[in-house]
Amino acid sequence: MYLRPRSLDEAVDALAIHGGRILAGGTDFYPALGDRPIAGNVIDISALDELAGISVGPNEVRIGARATWSSIASAPLPRAFDALKAAAREVGSLQIQNLGTIAGNLCNASPAADGIPPLLALDAEVELQSRSGHRRIPLAEFVTGYRKTVISPDEILTAVVVPRSIEGASAFLKLGARRYLVISIAMVAAIVETDSQGCVSQARIAVGACSAVAQRLRSLEEDLVGAPGRPGIGSSASLDHLASLSPIDDLRATADYRRNAALALVRRALEACVLET
Ligand SMILES: Cc1cc2nc3c(=O)[nH]c(=O)nc-3n(C[C@H](O)[C@H](O)[C@H](O)COP(=O)(O)OP(=O)(O)OC[C@H]3O[C@@H](n4cnc5c(N)ncnc54)[C@H](O)[C@@H]3O)c2cc1C
Repeated sequence: MYLRPRSLDEAVDALAIHGGRILAGGTDFYPALGDRPIAGNVIDISALDELAGISVGPNEVRIGARATWSSIASAPLPRAFDALKAAAREVGSLQIQNLGTIAGNLCNASPAADGIPPLLALDAEVELQSRSGHRRIPLAEFVTGYRKTVISPDEILTAVVVPRSIEGASAFLKLGARRYLVISIAMVAAIVETDSQGCVSQARIAVGACSAVAQRLRSLEEDLVGAPGRPGIGSSASLDHLASLSPIDDLRATADYRRNAALALVRRALEACVLET
C-alpha cells in the first residue's frame, strides 16, 4: 500500500495502523532497493508542509524534517551554521540537494552522511513523534551504529533542533576521490568561539566517515580552550586527538589514509574558523 498523508496526525496514524517505511526525498530509499521492488507499505511524507520549514527563534533554531539541503543552504542562519550550510552544498548534486532532506540523511545513518558532523558540532537534538507521544533526544544518542538509530517503527522524525547559545565561526571540509558528487572519505565540521581577548572559549569538532558513527573530538576541544584564536591554531591538533576514531580500509581509502586525511581536515577547518573571526 502507498499512502501520502496530508498532515502529521494522519501520517502517525497511518504508521501506527498500517506500518510501513517512510519515504521523504527518496534519494537513499530508492538506491537502497537496487533491483528489488518495494516490499511492504510506504508512507510518503512529501505532502507534509508542516515539516518543511526552518525557523530561527530566540532560544533555538528548528529545522523541519523535510527541509531539503537546498533550503538549508539558502536559509538565513547564524554563522555557527555555516558548516551545516557548506555540508548542504556538498551533498551529491543540485538535483539531490533539491530532493534530499535532513531527516532522510540522519535516519539513513550512513557513516558518510555529510549532515551528521555539522549537527553533532551544533549539539543538535531530534524530535520524534508517534501516535503515543513525542520525544526529543540528542543526535549523539539518536545514531547508535552503522545505519542504526533508536527510532521506533511507529515514529517520524519531525524536526532537528539546535540551541541558539552556540556561537562562533564554523567550517565544514569534505574529502572525496573527486571534488563533487562523491561519497566522503573523511569530513570534518568545526565551530570555534573566541572570547574578548581573542582566545578560544569553546571549540566543537566532529569527524565523519572515520568510524561507524561520526564523533566529536572531545580531547582536542578541551585542549583548544584558552589557545589563541589565530592562524596556526591547526597545529594544536595531533593524531593522538583522533585516537577514538576507528577508520576502515575499503575501496575508497585505507584506514591509515583516512586517519591522516581527517587530521589534515581538522587542522584546515580550525584555520578556516579563525580566519573568519
Ligand atoms: C547520487 C547521490 C549522491 C548522494 N550524495 C550524498 C552526499 O554527498 N552526502 C550525503 O550525505 N548523502 C548523499 N546522498 C544520500 C542522500 O541524498 C541523503 O542522505 C539525503 O539527505 C536523504 O534524504 P531523503 O529525503 O532523500 O531520504 P529518503 O531516501 O526518503 O529516506 C532515507 C531513510 O530515512 C527514512 N526517513 C526519511 N525521512 C524520515 C523521517 N522524517 N522520519 C523517519 N524516517 C525518515 C526513510 O524511511 C529511509 O529509511 C546521495 C544520494 C544519491 C542518490
